[in-house]
Amino acid sequence: MSVAKSREEPHYRGPTYYELKAPPELDWRPFRPASYLEYRLEWDRRGSQMDPGRFPLHLDIDPTNRCNLACVMCPRTVYAREGRTAWAPRGLGDMDFALYERLVEEGAAEGLRSVKLNFLGEPLLYPKLAAMIALAAARGLYAMLNTNAVLLTPAKGRELLEAGLTDIFFSFDSPYPAEYERIRRGASFRGVLDNIRAFIQSKDEMGLKSVQTRASMVLPADGGDSEKTRSDYLRLFRDLGVAEIGFGLPTDLSRDYEPLNRGLNFSCPDLFRRAFVFWDGAVGPCCGDWERRLIMGDAKERRLLDIWGGEEYRALRAPHSRGNFREIPACRICSVPYLARAF
Ligand code: SF4
Repeated sequence: MSVAKSREEPHYRGPTYYELKAPPELDWRPFRPASYLEYRLEWDRRGSQMDPGRFPLHLDIDPTNRCNLACVMCPRTVYAREGRTAWAPRGLGDMDFALYERLVEEGAAEGLRSVKLNFLGEPLLYPKLAAMIALAAARGLYAMLNTNAVLLTPAKGRELLEAGLTDIFFSFDSPYPAEYERIRRGASFRGVLDNIRAFIQSKDEMGLKSVQTRASMVLPADGGDSEKTRSDYLRLFRDLGVAEIGFGLPTDLSRDYEPLNRGLNFSCPDLFRRAFVFWDGAVGPCCGDWERRLIMGDAKERRLLDIWGGEEYRALRAPHSRGNFREIPACRICSVPYLARAF
């Protein structure tokens, strides 16, 4: 697969993702407090030094595992087709708001800096999403969101901004209408772009210069990630006023990654800085474990502080700290170590 970069320099790289730097007129960073930079430096330090600290810096919290689309590359779509249910052992559901409140209150007291309100589902389906954002903002946390933006009406966008949303990431997988609608089954190319345009207009009218906007696409698994596609994508979203543009490498769910991972030296930085809370309270360590092979604990029963420092996490981090992720069966078959080679 080609991962040739755009002529624009990336300013952020994760193991399977890179992002292009916002131009000065769209840059939101100068409007953030100095503590934001400290937070990002600590984010990098935790990952590179493999130091988990006392508590995660960031939580990915899934308000719901329901979704309004059936995108072709999404594990939900593939698992549904194959009859696999491990990703949703309790079916589909919404998080109990009281559990969310406990997570945020505990986190705010323990050094948590940000929450991202989604994981496996579409967060705009959750009825009390604005209340979730407002609580995080009231506790001084950055409140982020990934969304397909299908339900991001102008009124909903303003509601989220008024609640204190700090970062919004639009998942939008092609600059071409027919390709987008083939991938994002159930979404309208023009309708979603109109929603994004209206959101940015509201943000600008409200004078919210520190709010980060980003559009990101999963690159095609078949190698069709041409320079032209990426530059058309960049132009489409920069013309709309979106600051950050991201490209992610896809996991090919039909592929066996175990042989591809052999001989690689890799450690997952996210094990040391963020945790994922499923809608039902199960705590996972990463975005690569949709089928819950690596559950670290249940946030309904234990404090997150105890889960983060607990035996399950220590047993997972130890081989990663030695670069030997293959000691962990779930990591041995994961796509992330192999895909990270591209970066
Ligand atoms: S399954 Fe293992 S290797 Fe894959 S993302 Fe999670 S921790 Fe990292």
